[in-house]
Amino acid sequence: MHILVTNDDGITAPGLMALARAMRPLGKVSVLAPDHNWSASGHVKTLNRPLRVREVHLADDLKGYASDGAPSDCVALAMLGFFPEKVDLVVSGINPNINVGHDLTYSGTVTAAMEAVISGVPGLAFSMDSPVDSLDELHYESAARVASKITEKVIAGQFPPSTLLNINIPNLRENEIKGIRVTRQGLRIYRDQLVRRLDPRNRPYYWIGGDSPLGVPEEGTDYGAVTDGWVSITPLKLDLTDYETLSILSRAPWEL
Ligand code: MN
Repeated sequence: MHILVTNDDGITAPGLMALARAMRPLGKVSVLAPDHNWSASGHVKTLNRPLRVREVHLADDLKGYASDGAPSDCVALAMLGFFPEKVDLVVSGINPNINVGHDLTYSGTVTAAMEAVISGVPGLAFSMDSPVDSLDELHYESAARVASKITEKVIAGQFPPSTLLNINIPNLRENEIKGIRVTRQGLRIYRDQLVRRLDPRNRPYYWIGGDSPLGVPEEGTDYGAVTDGWVSITPLKLDLTDYETLSILSRAPWEL
C-alpha cells in the first residue's frame, strides 16, 4: 500500500506532518506537497509553466518533496510517475479549518483528493474544525488518529477506486469526540465583503475580506455534525449533474 500524503497549506504545515506520521503504520508513505499555502485555490492543473520539485527533510527521518504546483498538481505528479512506485491511495490534510458545504469547490485540500479519484485511486480529504486565525494548540494528534482509523477502513474495505471522502474532525481531544456521522454536504453562509483601498501610488486595489463564513447547522449535514462534536464523513462524487433539473429540462421542448 503506497500512500501519498499531500495538503494545501504547504510542506511545513503541522497538519501534514501529523497526517504523514499517522499513515506510516498503514503502508509506504510518500509526501509531496506544495511549497507554499494554496488554501482556497480550487482545482488547478498547471499547464503553462514547468513544475519544480525539491527534496525536503521532514521530521522523523521522513523525506518529503515540495513542489511549486498546486495541491492537485502534486497529486498529478505522483500519479503520473514522479515516484517509481505506483500510488494506491491519496490522503490530503490535515487542513486546520473545516471544508463543508460550498467550501468544497474552493478547497485545495478537497481538490487534491478529487485529483486522486480522477487518476483512479481513492482520495481522502481531512480537515479540522479549528477557529480561523488561531492555529495554537490544535488537536492534530487526535485528528491524525481519527484519520488513521478511517484510512485503515478504506484500505481494508472493498471501496471502489472512485471513493472520495471529505472528512471533517472537531478540534477536540479524542475522548471528547462523540463519534462518526456519515453526512451530506451542508450549506455555508459566506460573509465576504469587498475592501477597496489605495496603494502607495494612489491606485485602488481590492481585497475580499469580511468575517469568516458561518454555516447552517442542519442535522445530517457535514457542518451540523462537526459543529456538534462528531467526525463528519461525506462521500462525494465528481459528477456534478443535477439529475432533478436534468429530468425537468428533458421534458421541455428544445427545438431550435
Ligand atoms: Mn488549507
